[in-house]
Amino acid sequence: MVFISDEKKNQIIENSDIVAIIGDYVDLKKSGNSYKGLCPFHNEKTPSFTVDDKKQLFHCFGCGEGGDVVSFIMHKEGLSYIDSMKFLASKAGIKLDDSKSSKENKILNRFYDINKDIMMYFYKNLLTDKAGQIYLKNRGFRSNIVNTFMLGFAKNSWDDLLNYVKKKDYLLDDIESLGLIKKSQNGKYYDKYRNRLIFPIINHYGKVIGFGGRSIDSTMPKYLNSPESQVFKKRYNLYGLNIFKKQSSKDIILVEGYMDVIGLNNQGIDQAVASLGTSLTNDQAKLLKRYAKNVYICYDEDNAGIKATDRAIEILLDEGIKPNIISLEKGLDPDDFVKKYGRDAFIKKMDEASDVYNYKYNKILDLYAKSKDNEKFEKLNLFIEFLASIKSDLTREIFINNVSKLFNIDKATLKESVLKYNDNYKKTYINNKENFSNDNNFKNFHQKQKIIVERKIMKFQLMSLKL
Ligand SMILES: [Zn+2]
Repeated sequence: MVFISDEKKNQIIENSDIVAIIGDYVDLKKSGNSYKGLCPFHNEKTPSFTVDDKKQLFHCFGCGEGGDVVSFIMHKEGLSYIDSMKFLASKAGIKLDDSKSSKENKILNRFYDINKDIMMYFYKNLLTDKAGQIYLKNRGFRSNIVNTFMLGFAKNSWDDLLNYVKKKDYLLDDIESLGLIKKSQNGKYYDKYRNRLIFPIINHYGKVIGFGGRSIDSTMPKYLNSPESQVFKKRYNLYGLNIFKKQSSKDIILVEGYMDVIGLNNQGIDQAVASLGTSLTNDQAKLLKRYAKNVYICYDEDNAGIKATDRAIEILLDEGIKPNIISLEKGLDPDDFVKKYGRDAFIKKMDEASDVYNYKYNKILDLYAKSKDNEKFEKLNLFIEFLASIKSDLTREIFINNVSKLFNIDKATLKESVLKYNDNYKKTYINNKENFSNDNNFKNFHQKQKIIVERKIMKFQLMSLKL
């Protein structure tokens, strides 16, 4: 736990200009002696949110929200007072007195600075290189997309970036561990990203933590990503969260890739985030919970996407989030869909999204419908398993009704089967627990403990990253 002295607090507040800080979230326009913009705490069409430069205060005449820069961050980021202070301190480059982590912080800050500079280098390339621009145009992207996502371009060269970082006197070791250059077998460095559109990955604190690169010709792999590093930890980040934070809707759309986030934004839907090429992690689910009220899953409708959806549902339920699932046309990802049918059609799909239970139920129903007549009754087990997984009595009752009609079984029998299913599950679980003397179980137990400890370590690393 970091102690922040009053002196330090004053220093942090003095170095956090409210207009600049709020400007990261709200498009502010000068109006008389103050600044005006659309309130980030309630939905509105005409600005009633004002920021007073002199008093360093904000106030919304629409919803009554108001306060200083710290209370703004507390509300907007959902952080405690101390964490908001840390957040502002890190933004202002003020070190908090924790000598152990200050060396680590130095390295982190060095990496962030390099990444930011390289982001600008890629960005300038895109503004001057025709190949990247033509690619964006062919994909139908509006020009403001480049600035929103700070897109860039890696030239078709083996040493363009290498020469740039040499000129800048960066340590080549640093550039290599950030995954921007690689060493060949004869020990020579070369650029990792060549002839690729670049997506800087900016975390929810506004730091550039990594890069994704999509090939603009047929070079494989289609996507190259930064390796895990001290600054780039995939499992704790979501692509696009920095942009989601700037708008006021509490509905977040979880998609698979960079292009889906950008494609949706290109059509005016700025609520999408992507899980950076991994399947959703518990830590990412926690982030979703912190920033959004409703989570919509919109993954591709191929086999991999359906599996990823099932996994994401379980992880979100684990974190106490009941997601909605958006189903698009077969074979289309969100980027394809919105390009073909436009914004309104996507919003309609969002309105029609199914809740978890209907999604699961419809999937089993689909299997049932497709099965042969003599296999149909076997599918009853899947329905029982599903019914047993529903925690709410009322919801379970509704689906018991449906299944009872489908199989023409009376409800009491069905309920009894569900109870039995849950009983058996519990028995198996408890038996396993009692069998710990068994060698194999003992090993499993230790394996689990190891994972728990590793998780704790990772959490610790994340905490020092936040400082
Ligand atoms: Zn308001």
